[in-house]
Amino acid sequence: MTSNKKEKINKKEKLVGKRFGKLKVLSVYKKGKYKKCKCICDCGNTTDVYYSNLVSGRTISCGCRGGEIANRYKNIVGEIYHDLIVEEKTEKREDGLIVWKCRCLKCGKYIEVTKKQLDRGYVKDCGNHKYEDLLGQKIGELTIISFDKNREKYLCQCSCGKSTYVSRSNLISSHTLSCGHLKDNRKYKYVDGALPYLLTGKIPSNNTSGVKGVSQTKSGKWVSYITLRKKRYTLGTFKKKEDAIRARKKAEIDFFLPIIEKDQMRKQKTKHRKERV
Ligand SMILES: [Zn+2]
Ligand SMILES: [Zn+2]
Ligand SMILES: [Zn+2]
Repeated sequence: MTSNKKEKINKKEKLVGKRFGKLKVLSVYKKGKYKKCKCICDCGNTTDVYYSNLVSGRTISCGCRGGEIANRYKNIVGEIYHDLIVEEKTEKREDGLIVWKCRCLKCGKYIEVTKKQLDRGYVKDCGNHKYEDLLGQKIGELTIISFDKNREKYLCQCSCGKSTYVSRSNLISSHTLSCGHLKDNRKYKYVDGALPYLLTGKIPSNNTSGVKGVSQTKSGKWVSYITLRKKRYTLGTFKKKEDAIRARKKAEIDFFLPIIEKDQMRKQKTKHRKERV
C-alpha cells in the first residue's frame, strides 16, 4: 500500500462519526468526481450529502431544518446588533456557521462573530466595554480611574491621595468605600478603650423599662447595670424603679461623661485643624 492511499483511508476514518450540525457521518464514498457522506440526522433520517457542503456548513441537517439553514445564511451585512454593525462576510466557519466581521460602534474595533452569537445577545460589542460603566464614577471616597484586566480590579483614587485596587462587586455593593483610611479612622474613635457613639446610642428594642441599663426581673425588682468596654457591670437591684434609674444615671456621669467629654474635645480639635488647612 502506498503512503498516499494510507493517508486517504485515515482521512476517511476520521470523518466517520464526526458531527456537522444535526448530521453525524456514517460513511464516506465517492460519486463521480465528488466525495459524498452518508449521514444520520438527529431527527432519525439518513441522508447523502456532498462532502464539501458538509465541511463548509452549508448542510447541517437532512432538510428538516431547512428554514433555519436559510436563516443562517441570510446576508446580514449592514445590520446592527446592539453596538455592532456587520460589515463583511468572512470565509471562516464556526460549528458550520458563517463568521461575520463586525465593527464596534463604541470604539471602532473589529471582531468576528456568528449570527447566533449576535441573535442571542452573547456578543453586544467588541468586549472591551464591560467595565466602562463604572469609570469616572465616585463611590464613597473612591474615584474609579481604570480597569486592570490582569488583576480584574478597578484602579481607584482615594480622597486621601492613595490609590487602591478594588473588585467590581466590592464597589457595586459599597463594601469598599475608601483605600482603608475610613476603617482606620474608626480605630481612633476609641476613647479610653470605649467607643463614645455606643455610650450615647439608642435604647435596645428588648428593653423593659424605657431607660437604658435598667430592667425588671421576673420577681418584679429592678436591676441597674452599665456596659463599658464590652463588659457589663451590675449597679444594684432595687425595689423601686426610680432608684434603679438613679443608680444608672449616676454611673453614666461617673463613667460615660469623662469619655464623652474627651471625645467632644478631640472632635473640636480636629475641626479646628481642618479649618486652618
Ligand atoms: Zn433531520
Ligand atoms: Zn468596542
Ligand atoms: Zn484613603
